[in-house]
Amino acid sequence: MMGEADKNQGVTVIGHPLVLHKLSIMRRSATSTGKFRQLLREISLLLAYEVTRDLPLAYETVETPLALYDAPTIEGKKLCLIAILRAGDGLVQGILDLVPSARVGHIGLYRDPKTLEAIEYFYKVPDLTGRLVIVVDPMLATGHTAVAAVTRVKKSGAQHIKFLCLLSAPEGIRTFRVAHPDVPVFTAAIDDHLNDHGYIIPGLGDAGDRLYGTK
Ligand code: URA
Repeated sequence: MMGEADKNQGVTVIGHPLVLHKLSIMRRSATSTGKFRQLLREISLLLAYEVTRDLPLAYETVETPLALYDAPTIEGKKLCLIAILRAGDGLVQGILDLVPSARVGHIGLYRDPKTLEAIEYFYKVPDLTGRLVIVVDPMLATGHTAVAAVTRVKKSGAQHIKFLCLLSAPEGIRTFRVAHPDVPVFTAAIDDHLNDHGYIIPGLGDAGDRLYGTK
């Protein structure tokens, strides 16, 4: 794995050694819920560093102890995080540690067992116009949920969108990129494949269960 972000056709693999080390501990089935949660928070901060790399800067004059200086600043109000419930919430806190003034929205989707369509059960987002919208979910598996979530935020007026996850499957990346070629994907790793139940292999299991200790 490369030591810095590896960009390929709209997909950036954030293979920083710190990210990969923390991810390896998260993959271990013996890692406790508390440790998993702490690592996800730490890793999300590191991923946020890369996903916000091209945030526009504004300049304001500041008075240092010695001189006036035209200083670059980020307008935090330009950023909105959208967490896909429920595991996406685990990525939000670390990003907010870095960009405390970002707005946060939530989207809840479940898969209809008959039609396999993504059905929305919760949606609450701030005004998305003019903001960079980062949709977050730790796992990009089949890609169906991510596709539906991004389609929904586009309907709400989002124009500048990125998708951030921790782990992805090649199948999910393909599906997502076909549906939303304008939305770049940021991920710490691309694993081997999906199993018959839609889990990422080798993966880390069910991210929501591991984050909240529900299994
Ligand atoms: N969602 C998860 O939490 N884990 C997977 O492996 C796939 C989807």
